[in-house]
Amino acid sequence: MPRLLIATTNKGKAREIAELLAETGWECVTPSDVGLGWIEVIETARSYLENAIHKAVSHAAASGLPTLADDSGLEVDALDGRPGVLSARYGGASMRSDAERTARLLREVDGVPAGRRGARFRAVVALAVPGGRTFVREGLLEGRIAESPRGTSGFGYDPILELPDGRTVAELGAEKQQISHRTVAVRAMIDVLKSLESPYGQPPFRS
Ligand code: IMP
Repeated sequence: MPRLLIATTNKGKAREIAELLAETGWECVTPSDVGLGWIEVIETARSYLENAIHKAVSHAAASGLPTLADDSGLEVDALDGRPGVLSARYGGASMRSDAERTARLLREVDGVPAGRRGARFRAVVALAVPGGRTFVREGLLEGRIAESPRGTSGFGYDPILELPDGRTVAELGAEKQQISHRTVAVRAMIDVLKSLESPYGQPPFRS
């Protein structure tokens, strides 16, 4: 089975992506599975696209394997798309937890009426193939910023993104995996992975 490197140290994320790609015939492996040490990827770019491509290309070069990487964030219309690509570091070093970042964001949209609280999670997934080709796919999860946090599942900004059915993402539990922005982006890459297999035989690249 050809191997696909998932460029993340987050085991949960790697497992979720492997489940989504099970039908493609690629075996998903993590950096530690292939003896790859920590690769410093400085997420200085101004876009998810640059971050995801940079992460995928550097891991593909180091491993010799086709590599999938993602970058994602929350975009709030009333804040001109912030925190966006800076979601993980929103508020700088003084904001140490998801709860602090969430509380800060809620303060910033305090008083904004329901009709103007539109927001979404956006994920960009990049696939880098050793030799130079890269492919990119995107996924969105649309909602609006809730008045206060609700729900206990998930992570990050999940408790404050309210979906059209009234539940926040943190109230979805396992259902999140069916509809999330990352799932949409990874599923959109399935056809690419399937099309890569045949011209190269098995396995298609150095492994
Ligand atoms: P990363 O792409 O996994 O590094 O995520 C970047 C940041 O975006 C996270 O640290 C979160 O703040 C935010 N984020 C991305 N995806 C989600 C999600 O599914 N739920 C909540 N927050 C998210």
